[in-house]
Amino acid sequence: MYETMESDSETLCHVKDLIRNVRSEVREIAPIKASMDKTRKDLSKITTQLITLEEKVLFPLKCHSCNHPIRADFKLCPYCGNSLELAEITISK
Ligand SMILES: [Zn+2]
Repeated sequence: MYETMESDSETLCHVKDLIRNVRSEVREIAPIKASMDKTRKDLSKITTQLITLEEKVLFPLKCHSCNHPIRADFKLCPYCGNSLELAEITISK
């Protein structure tokens, strides 16, 4: 009988230890999760920047009339039909 009680209190101790461990693990995981969320946001920001950069490489010029990005070899703006003479094209920054 006494042994059973001893083992019960030991089990209880184990359970308490486990709960303590889980709690400290959760505390350790929280900042990792936060930094993962931040990394994910940073990655999507970088992806957006890369797409913008790619567009600037493929479409480095802007129509002087409608401000649409256009390819450097275009002679007429496909959006507004504006003639893309060199003087009318502004290089996007
Ligand atoms: Zn245009």
